Amino acid sequence: MFLVQVTRRNISNSVPVASSFGRWYRDFWQPAPANEPPYDHVTQIGDPVLRKKADPVPPEMAKSPEVQYLIKSMVNVMRKFSCVGLAAPQIGISLRILVMEFKEKLKDEYTSAEYKIKEMETLPLTVFINPELKVLNYEKKTFPEACQSVRGYSGEVARYSEVLLRGVDENGSEKELALKGWNARIAQHEMDHLDGIVYTDLMKRNTFTCTCWQAVNEKRGRVSIFFHKKMIN
Ligand SMILES: [Zn+2]
Repeated sequence: MFLVQVTRRNISNSVPVASSFGRWYRDFWQPAPANEPPYDHVTQIGDPVLRKKADPVPPEMAKSPEVQYLIKSMVNVMRKFSCVGLAAPQIGISLRILVMEFKEKLKDEYTSAEYKIKEMETLPLTVFINPELKVLNYEKKTFPEACQSVRGYSGEVARYSEVLLRGVDENGSEKELALKGWNARIAQHEMDHLDGIVYTDLMKRNTFTCTCWQAVNEKRGRVSIFFHKKMIN
């Protein structure tokens, strides 16, 4: 240890090295601590956590600091990535918890025709612990759907048009919520995550689309898909 410290001091004090080299050298001796879930990024398809059937939260744990911390992390990540729903496995925790929120300002991302045809409507922050889903209307609607765990792509998925979610909220109280249109779609998508299902399992395969394919052509392939975002709130 002593030798390492002396060597590092010598490098940083006596040699006029570029700071990037200094950082590289420091990191070489002090590797970053392993990243443990709950993550502040979204797990990507291929991660085994997205394929496991998530475990129920023991009812007495619903109000525990651990579960409250997990819910807070899920809400932060959902808002950071501007998504409308997130399931706990998407931040690396295999528990049956989902969060949903359709903010008013998201409306600006859609044309009014699209907003109407997809039956979108705002939804206040909604938390479900151990949710169960009941279909209220078996009529199916097909629209392109995307997932932060398959970042950069979309595909058409048929979903029931009305569902009922039943479970426990963040305060440990029994709760049920009827949802239709786009919010019913979000609920079905997040429920699937709790059973290890990703929308690519259900989509019409020939509709699978890289959402930036035009930009790839326009920018001669110089396009990146990022898997991180800075916290905005
Ligand atoms: Zn998803």
